[in-house]
Amino acid sequence: MPLTQSKDILHTHLKKYFGFDHFRSQQESIITSVLEKRDCLVIMPTGGGKSVCFQLPALIFEGVTLVISPLIALMKDQVDGLRANGIPSAFFNSSQSGEEQQDILDQVAKRELKLLYVAPESLAGLSPILNQSHISAIAVDEAHCISSWGHDFRPSYQQLGFLKKTLPQTPIIALTATADKATRQDIVNQLNIPSAQQFLASFDRKNIALEVRAAHDRVSKILRFIEQRPNESGIIYCLSRKSTENLVGKLKNSGIKAAAYHAGLNFDNRNKVQEDFIFDKTQIVCATVAFGMGIDKSNVRWVIHYNMPKNIEGYYQEIGRSGRDGLPARALLFHSYADVIQLRKFAEGAANEEVQIAKLERMKQFSEAPTCRRKILLSYFGEFLQEDCGNCDVCKNPPQFFNGTVIAQKILSTIARLKESEPTGTVIDVLRGAQNASILDKNYHQLSTFGIGKDISWNDWQHYVIQIINQGYCEIAFHKNNTLRLTSFSKAVLFGKTEVRLSKPVDKETKAAVEKEQ
Ligand code: ADP
Ligand code: ZN
Repeated sequence: MPLTQSKDILHTHLKKYFGFDHFRSQQESIITSVLEKRDCLVIMPTGGGKSVCFQLPALIFEGVTLVISPLIALMKDQVDGLRANGIPSAFFNSSQSGEEQQDILDQVAKRELKLLYVAPESLAGLSPILNQSHISAIAVDEAHCISSWGHDFRPSYQQLGFLKKTLPQTPIIALTATADKATRQDIVNQLNIPSAQQFLASFDRKNIALEVRAAHDRVSKILRFIEQRPNESGIIYCLSRKSTENLVGKLKNSGIKAAAYHAGLNFDNRNKVQEDFIFDKTQIVCATVAFGMGIDKSNVRWVIHYNMPKNIEGYYQEIGRSGRDGLPARALLFHSYADVIQLRKFAEGAANEEVQIAKLERMKQFSEAPTCRRKILLSYFGEFLQEDCGNCDVCKNPPQFFNGTVIAQKILSTIARLKESEPTGTVIDVLRGAQNASILDKNYHQLSTFGIGKDISWNDWQHYVIQIINQGYCEIAFHKNNTLRLTSFSKAVLFGKTEVRLSKPVDKETKAAVEKEQ
């Protein structure tokens, strides 16, 4: 079909089958490229509008477009949605009987279907129709699952390389919201589509204000946050099932409507929680990362990370569930060393341990950065932001640096007096002169540094310790109970030979306190 003619058809189809008046940026060029039977790699954030990019060409092509998707649970909904729009489609997976599967093969042979969703494990069952005359195009959704460098690796995705070999003339369109370079390269290599045209949409979600705060006392910080926005929908992500439930208990005690969501609940329960949230019957959901996939709720106003996410992809995807309507939204992350340590433990022994730990390190750097957070976030996805964003906590409260040598000396000499055998929490307790049992039992109250830092809050000490670690003056021994240890650079500080620059705490509450003191 001549391209000029197809341009009109594209718009007519967009309106007729999807109800949209205009293409979003890049959708049209992606669709044109698919129609020219070129392989494509589409990187677009969640909610960006990837589906139309393969669904619309499917309508124009002869034959059926295969959609490979790992989300069996969502296939039925996706297909129902398409059928409701008048698009003949079906799914093919292990939840179906042999008869049902045969029926679908027959429909493909009779050219009755335009889209067929299939789980990678079930591809073998499609062999009778896996030929060029039946298959018009292949969409590989959530394509990052193919890469062990990706955050959601699925071994079943690794066999997909045979598709291009079996159907060399059929265009493959790989789609994902995960964009780091290594993953991108891996997708192209493994799918055997080296000359795929790459479409990289912007990952910037300007309307989401980014903020990181110290985790200390986070429940009261969360309560205050919610009190200030009484009718807004929000999601609080926690690391464990138990902590979602504990947090719900605490919110309910304060009269806030909240529900827990995690993989330990049965199907009906989870469905109910989702629906109540979507229909605004529940204001807040405290969830593990299991929550949110495939949820299309446009008015989520904020996302809180009660715990540190394990990587930036996950963090980005989760905060991306807020502000889909384009109105101002907020993402608040609580930063805690205890979480980093916990996540390191989870990563240890995993098949791709090194990758996971490197990714966690990037997440940690993001949380501790003294520069515009959006710049860091976007640079992770290979995008460069020229100006600081003006919509993150660092831009709004740029850190003020001061000569922190004495503070650093107090920390380092306490670590030395504790014989490098205690973790951050105990070091701070000694500095602050805490009279708790574990301090007294070990006779730490007799150390000469006991209580030399009473004037500084726990929170602020933590802020300073993090900076001293990041500057290399001490380190966490992850394999020795996370004890704080000195480094080869500590001495110069202890002997007054190096000046240490520290930033003042910018955490809202502590900042207010600092200002009051000044
Ligand atoms: P993704 O798969 O990238 O997460 P979807 O394809 O599910 O995104 O689309 C996200 C939302 O954007 C959906 O609600 C969809 O209806 C809407 N959408 C997609 N394309 C357009 C468009 N051209 N105009 C308006 N809305 C669109
Ligand atoms: Zn910024």
